Amino acid sequence: MTGKTHATVGVLSTAALIILHPKGFEVGNIQILPIISLATAALGSYLPDIDIHQSALGRKYRIISKMLKHRGFTHTLVMPLCFLLLMYVVAHYMSPFSMLVIGINSLLFGLMFGWILHIFADMFNKKGVPLLFPITNSRIYVATVKTRHRSEYVWLALYIVCISILVVWLRFL
Ligand SMILES: [Zn+2]
Repeated sequence: MTGKTHATVGVLSTAALIILHPKGFEVGNIQILPIISLATAALGSYLPDIDIHQSALGRKYRIISKMLKHRGFTHTLVMPLCFLLLMYVVAHYMSPFSMLVIGINSLLFGLMFGWILHIFADMFNKKGVPLLFPITNSRIYVATVKTRHRSEYVWLALYIVCISILVVWLRFL
């Protein structure tokens, strides 16, 4: 999938969370305001492809991209779990500063959510993702959508339709 598709999925899905939970929600005991998460959702959706040497991010951070194999470590759930862990650390050690905690954790949630959605979207491509790392390195995919092909845009349109139906169903029906 292209960076634009990933960013669109990340931003639209976070917008859906804003409509569904305008006053926020909790992850564990951690308070999240999705309107703040919107600021980092696109970045979280872009970052996993820093492992592509030709990508805009990969060219900018060549040293990092050269160290990484495409669809390796950045396409596992390790980084999203790190963000979640960081959210717990922030909530635990900064608890007296509640507004700051909500702000930082909402930004971290945006990164985590965007990152997970990136991995989810890449599962629809034949290259797959090592979702079950470190249990196995084998790549998992559920469809054969081609990048920069008509099928990618059809997939994106279907995703937007599904999200819209879900939002209307959960919020308004
Ligand atoms: Zn990717």
